[in-house]
Amino acid sequence: MDFLRPASWEEALAAKAEHPTAVPIAGGTDVMVEINFDHRRPEYLLDLNRIGELSEWEVGQEKVRLGASVPYSSIMDHLRAELPGLALASHTVASPQIRNRGGVGGNLGTASPAGDAHPALLAADCEVEAESVRGTRLIPIDAFYTGVKRNALEPDELIRAVHIKKADGPQQYSKVGTRNAMVIAVCAFGIALHPETRTVRTGIGSAAPTPIRAKEAEDFLNAALEEGGFWDNGKIITPAIAKQFAALASGACNPIDDVRGTAKYRRHAVGIMARRTLGWTWEQYRGAGRTLEGAA
Ligand SMILES: Cc1cc2nc3c(=O)[nH]c(=O)nc-3n(C[C@H](O)[C@H](O)[C@H](O)COP(=O)(O)OP(=O)(O)OC[C@H]3O[C@@H](n4cnc5c(N)ncnc54)[C@H](O)[C@@H]3O)c2cc1C
Repeated sequence: MDFLRPASWEEALAAKAEHPTAVPIAGGTDVMVEINFDHRRPEYLLDLNRIGELSEWEVGQEKVRLGASVPYSSIMDHLRAELPGLALASHTVASPQIRNRGGVGGNLGTASPAGDAHPALLAADCEVEAESVRGTRLIPIDAFYTGVKRNALEPDELIRAVHIKKADGPQQYSKVGTRNAMVIAVCAFGIALHPETRTVRTGIGSAAPTPIRAKEAEDFLNAALEEGGFWDNGKIITPAIAKQFAALASGACNPIDDVRGTAKYRRHAVGIMARRTLGWTWEQYRGAGRTLEGAA
């Protein structure tokens, strides 16, 4: 196995163009597990750790440009206000050691349906900045996950950054696992309220072949909130609306039975998490200094 150690982003792109089968390694918290268990024996490893800019982020007017290798611990420490859903999801990843090494670029590279960043990224809305010697493209997150542990990257492309919409309202992340730490999600749910566009977005993890949004649930809720004037009057969302949102979120799942949980349990749990996280975020929204006249 050859170890390629580019000193700059340009060198990394050139190396990937020359060796498209080279496996990039950032934190190594997925790659090294696969190599240690002999699940993968790549001819080339492409070490991205000398490229400092991959561990940097920029907070812009509307978006955060998050370098592919920014570790989860930095997201938790520095981007909680801008990316609350992703910060909450980061909290649930593994242990401090893994959170200091692993990052969103690696989670996207692996594209496991159980990856914790995905539901938060889907709910917040973002684009993946993919680059090769041929140029740069922004892949909408909805188009990024193409199958079980498959993504939309071309063989010569690397992830440079992720452009994530800054929170304009409350966000939440909920994960079911057998214990609080060091656990792969049985299933997970992310939600983001976007008061500016009067929309709600969701993300579901570990309950379908890829991370997905619960689009029907979103459409239903967006129409119900609009119809009832909820964004303006700040009323408590009725139990009937919350129940239907949960049922549609549950219906969006296409899970399997595996060692971590049954398909039936996953569908049920996603419904519960959808209802709870909607309740939590809506309470935050109602309490966030908006006019509550007429609120129930
Ligand atoms: C003990 C343990 C517990 C874990 N618990 C969790 C958990 O709770 N939740 C969770 O989501 N994950 C968990 N993981 C998995 C892992 O930590 C995450 O997926 C993490 O985000 C991977 O990031 P990394 O930088 O270490 O990726 P790496 O291992 O370096 O790479 C992962 C994949 O992404 C590719 N890649 C990396 N960077 C780029 C890039 N810039 N461009 C293109 N491709 C790239 C690699 O080639 C590889 O295919 C756990 C892992 C371990 C070992």
